[in-house]
Amino acid sequence: MMQVKGIRSISPYVPGEQPNFSDMIKINTNENAYPPSPAVLDTLKHFDGKSLSRYSSISNQKLKEALAKKYHLQSNQFVIGNGSDEILAFCMLAFFNSKEPILFPDITYGFYKVWADLFHIPYQEVPLKQDFRINFEDYNRFNGGILIPNPNAPTGIYEESPTIETLLKNNSDSVVIIDEAYIDFGGVSVIPLIEKYPNLVVVHTFSKSRSLAGLRIGYAISNPNLIQVLESIKSSFNPYSVDTLSEELSVSAVESQTYYLEINQKIQHTRELFAHKLNQLGFVVLPSKTNFVLTTHPKADMQALFEFLNEQHVFVRFFPTNKRLEQFFRISIGTDQEMLRVTQILEQFLAK
Ligand SMILES: *Cc1c(COP(=O)(O)O)cnc(C)c1O
Repeated sequence: MMQVKGIRSISPYVPGEQPNFSDMIKINTNENAYPPSPAVLDTLKHFDGKSLSRYSSISNQKLKEALAKKYHLQSNQFVIGNGSDEILAFCMLAFFNSKEPILFPDITYGFYKVWADLFHIPYQEVPLKQDFRINFEDYNRFNGGILIPNPNAPTGIYEESPTIETLLKNNSDSVVIIDEAYIDFGGVSVIPLIEKYPNLVVVHTFSKSRSLAGLRIGYAISNPNLIQVLESIKSSFNPYSVDTLSEELSVSAVESQTYYLEINQKIQHTRELFAHKLNQLGFVVLPSKTNFVLTTHPKADMQALFEFLNEQHVFVRFFPTNKRLEQFFRISIGTDQEMLRVTQILEQFLAK
């Protein structure tokens, strides 16, 4: 075959599998165990499909106003995107343009590295400590920006706001992005720090705590100056990236606070019961403030256990190619019944 020039070679992000069996327990991609709120489903039922002949809103003002009301901020402090994955990509294009490397943990959301490579952004992966916590002292060095998920994924470990505040103070000349994809499962958001630190950008998603992974909505919150730069990036790439239906359903989700508080508290309760049960079975469980746990069993063959679970259509996330994680499972928290069934299967395996 003739060689053509200019073709890019890239290693893409590999998400968890999306198997489809009617009897499966799918706890491998941290989706919410519960459906979207009744108000979201009702808005969907009454959606006027004829409106789709027009382009969607460029400003997403309706959703921004709903969010501004919820967080007691101004609507010009938000930018909306097609999932927080898109927002994070926009953030990297907008804020990580210095010659210094950007910093993020070596064990973290796998997409950060993929974007850095894709956009030719120099980066350093900062090793987590032995106990899988972020070593914040290691971030006191020259950098072109910092990207940290809080809680971190796939560890589930959460850092208190004062720790993040120190990071912001020590790096006042670079943009610090805090990815709060899992903040609604027991953590406290650093959104109140936005007023005090002009270098802070917080990123949220509707995929995890809002049960809307399939809708693809995420957003960034910051001061109007940084938000304006993000809007320019969005307009230079895909101004209509948020579709009309998604915006309308998201507004309903923002307005369903009681429902989401309830299901997300329920998930935290199930998580604590499940972690306790895992401990009883001899598993080591990292402390989690997310809708998943990272766990390993010092005496079990994790590869064999993974296959045993798969045979029974229980799908968890396994990281056999990552040296420090190769013995760990990341298990999303499902319903009480699902986790009870998982516990029984784990017991069966360990009794063999
Ligand atoms: C799931 C996840 C995202 C992506 O969420 P989407 O809004 O579905 O694109 C971003 N960051 C972290 C850490 C995640 O776990």
